[in-house]
Amino acid sequence: MELTDELYNTMIHRDSRFDGKLYIGIISTGIVCFPSCRSRLPKRANVRVFGTLELAVQAGFRPCKRCWPDHPQRTPPDTELVVRVMAILRADYGQPITLSSLARAVNVSPYHLQRVCKRCTGRSPAQELVTVRVEQAQKRLRDSTASIGDISRQVGFRSPSHFAVVFRRAVGVSPQAFRSEAGGGR
Ligand SMILES: [Zn+2]
Repeated sequence: MELTDELYNTMIHRDSRFDGKLYIGIISTGIVCFPSCRSRLPKRANVRVFGTLELAVQAGFRPCKRCWPDHPQRTPPDTELVVRVMAILRADYGQPITLSSLARAVNVSPYHLQRVCKRCTGRSPAQELVTVRVEQAQKRLRDSTASIGDISRQVGFRSPSHFAVVFRRAVGVSPQAFRSEAGGGR
């Protein structure tokens, strides 16, 4: 099928009006997307248009992992979403992570992410992130000789004093006390 200006415009503006009606095969990546996919906009020359997902798959395109054109509700199943979020938190806990950046990474709204995460795990993404960071800090306090300031930075806290407050709230003792009780730091 032909790529019309109208269709390409909906791709530029992430407009979802053709989602589920037309499918965009991207030759350079081998991926098939909904027209509104938030991945990088392909060049016109790299676009093939299909009327059904099956035709695109037969032509050798794989369904996109961001816009999930092979999933009827368009939203990844909740547990799948939470699994992806937890994988990001475990990989990137040392980086600055916000609810918005996390939501962007998994292509849902911050509101949706917050709600799904709370429903599935009983905790918000921010609470999950703190848990991951504190666990990583405990491991380093026990197993490494790095200073507490370095550890606080490595696990993503903006300052050692903020780290100390959060750590004490989660673990019940200060990082120093935890380290000496665990026999770490030597
Ligand atoms: Zn896509």
